Formats: sequence, structure tokens, C-alpha cells
Amino acid sequence: MAQPDRCAEPARSLTLDDALARILAAMPPAADRVDLPLRQALGRILAADIHAPFDLPPFANSAMDGYALRHADVAGQPDAALAVVGTAFAGRPYTGTVETGQCVRIFTGAAMPAGADSVLMQEDAIPEDGHIRLSRLPATAANVRPPGDEIRAGGRLLERGRRLNAADLGLLASAGLAEVAVTRQLRVAFFSTGDELRPLGEALGPGQIHDSNSHMLHGLLTDPAIAAIDLGAVRDDPAALRQILLDASGQADAIVTTGGVSVGDADFVTPALAELGRVEFWKVAVKPGKPFAFGKIGPAWLFGLPGNPVAVMVTFLQLVRPALLQLMGATARRPLRLKATSRSVLKKSPGRMEFQRGVFAPDGAGGLIVEGVAGQGSHQLIGMSRANCFIVLPTDTAGVKPGDVVDIEPFIEGY
Ligand code: AMP
Ligand code: MG
Repeated sequence: MAQPDRCAEPARSLTLDDALARILAAMPPAADRVDLPLRQALGRILAADIHAPFDLPPFANSAMDGYALRHADVAGQPDAALAVVGTAFAGRPYTGTVETGQCVRIFTGAAMPAGADSVLMQEDAIPEDGHIRLSRLPATAANVRPPGDEIRAGGRLLERGRRLNAADLGLLASAGLAEVAVTRQLRVAFFSTGDELRPLGEALGPGQIHDSNSHMLHGLLTDPAIAAIDLGAVRDDPAALRQILLDASGQADAIVTTGGVSVGDADFVTPALAELGRVEFWKVAVKPGKPFAFGKIGPAWLFGLPGNPVAVMVTFLQLVRPALLQLMGATARRPLRLKATSRSVLKKSPGRMEFQRGVFAPDGAGGLIVEGVAGQGSHQLIGMSRANCFIVLPTDTAGVKPGDVVDIEPFIEGY
């Protein structure tokens, strides 16, 4: 990162893409790793590739309930009869060898007995006293899962940087892995700024509002890979700000603040940041969003978000979350963008990219439709709360009419 001046400098204008590129270029990937018991690793980020310690499945087994047989015994002999010499259950193998003219009753997941190479599904067998006849001939090796069919010993099961999901836990358990190396939890401190803010439970005086942002950030930072540190709200007071910033930088890898980063008279965050660390102030050409501060306070990365709650949401999701993912060692992934046909008029002037709030749904014919929510103001959380997607309108767009196709970013957890 370029070393900015220590005093508050004029904000520079950046596109959203430029802002994100600058942030990501400055962030080192996560280094520290911890070994966790398998279940505790759910939702954490893999610190290293994981390889299969042995073949999966480890032994040849039946994919069906049926009869394990020697294919050569029945090939070209539709009326062959085979003697049933035993049974193989899952977990209780048949210990003998299947000889010519013999078969073994077998159940799904049971190890293939020695000598047998194929499984006749039970629907194709006609059981007779101690024998079976075949109503249909199986193919060679039919209904057998060979060892290593899923993955060979040494093959890569999971890639470093992946966030472990429920299927991954099952997969790792199938490979016998009781512990997993994941990246250390990222410590993220957050606080709100503003003289007007009152915590929940306190009555509102004239001109006062409740602090929405810290509760939103609590939600956004609730993540198994993050240890969130809620530092509450701080008044627009330079000394108090300095103190909370020092406190935050002493215990966190990253700090997220809201409010006070525009150039209003009451914005004390900007000078405090500039004084305590290396911080750049940007005007990100995105609506809602715009003022944004990025830099370092001591060892902690600093993300100074705007005050308006919807702007907090947009800048967090578009700029802070990718940065936190990179810091925690997660593989980067662009938000999922889909095309949808707008059913509403969406007002917009050219010049800034916009993230309007929308509700999308299937159109019943394989496509998607989207409507803008009422209340697109950057202070109107009701629209954000009702939305299930952003409608992403590029810089040059001058409004949308019904029938126009737009880009949407669905709010999908885990994508
Ligand atoms: P600021 O960027 O500090 O000038 O704040 C911009 C707008 O966002 C003002 O209307 C603030 O009252 C509002 N705002 C700032 N912080 C919060 C917060 N934590 N919760 C709700 N609204 C806020
Ligand atoms: Mg403020």
C-alpha cells in the first residue's frame, strides 16, 4: 500500500473494482494455523490441502443387495444355477472363497468375497432351495464398487482455502481424519461512531437514534472463522476515538468502524485515523457507499465504513468481506451474479454504480424476475431487510424499465 500522509488528505475517487483491488493487494494471506477436532472445524478455512490417507472406498464392496458371483460362471449361460454358500453383510464379511458354481448372498456395502467379481441384483435372481437362477445376466463387474473408486490413496480430497461444510466433515470422516488444520480465527473488532447513537434499552432523546450498525455488524461477523469483538459505540470525541482505536488495534487483526468518515464538521474519525495510523480516505463511486477509509492502525487493518446502515451493508459485503476472507486464508470467490428481468422501474442517474435492493423469484419458465423494494434510501433498512438480492446497476446505466434485464446478486449464505 502506498504510504499516505498522516494528516487527513482529500479523498480520492475510486471505482468499486479499483477499491477492492487495492485492498486485496495490500492484504497478506493468513499464516497461522491450528489443528482442530473434526466437528469444531465446521465453517473454518482449511490451512492446507488434504490428501486421502488410503483408497476410498478402502475395499471392493457391493453397491446393491443381491448375490456375489463369478461372472465367468454365468456368461453366455442364461439358465445357470448357482449354489448359495453364505452371506456377506456390511461389516460382517463372508470369510470363505466363492468357487465355481457358487454365489454369496450380499448386502449393500458388504465386502466382496474372495473369488467373486460381480453382483447380481436381487430383483434379477430367482431363489430356489439353496440355489438361485438368473432372470437376467449381469455385466462383468456389475454393482461392485472397486477400492479407490471415489479417490485413490494420496489423491487430493479438499483444497486449502476451502470453507468446510457439512459434506466436507463427512468426507474427512470417511478418510479417518479426526483432526483438521484450519486457519486461526480472524479477530475483528467493530464499533459505531456518533453522538446521536443510543444503545438498546435506553430512551431516545431529541435527535437521537438507536445504533443499528453494530447489530448488523454483529450479524455480518458471526462466522465460525471470525472472533468478533464488539466495542459498542463511541461519541464523536477525538480523545474517545483515539482510545477505542488503540484498544481495538491492540487486540484485533482487523477493525471495522461505521460513521464519521465523510468530511462533515462532526466527523472526528477521519483525523483520528490519520493521526494513529496509515489510512487512506476514498470516495468509492458506488451508491450507497461513497466515503470509505482503508489502512492500518498498528498491526490491525482498518475499514472505516459510512454511517448510513444500507451503505454499511453494501460496503461490508462488497469490500470488507472479500478482504476478511483473504485475511483468513479463504479462496476468493466473486459474488454470484445472475440475470433477471426487472418488473419495476428503477430510477438511476449515470455516474455511479448502484446496489439497489430487490426481491427476485423464478418466473415459472426457467428464468428470474426481480422487483426493486420500496425504500431505496441508504438510511432505509426496511428495504434492505425485505430484499433477497442486490440489483447491480453499472455506472453508465440511466434507469431501468420493466422488461429490461439486470444483474442481481442473490443473498446466499455460504456461496
Ligand atoms: P455519518 O457518516 O457519521 O455522517 O453518518 C451518516 C448517517 O448515518 C447519519 O444519519 C447517522 O445518524 C447515521 N448513522 C451513523 N451511524 C449509525 C448507526 N450506528 N446506526 C444507525 N445509523 C447510523
Ligand atoms: Mg456520524
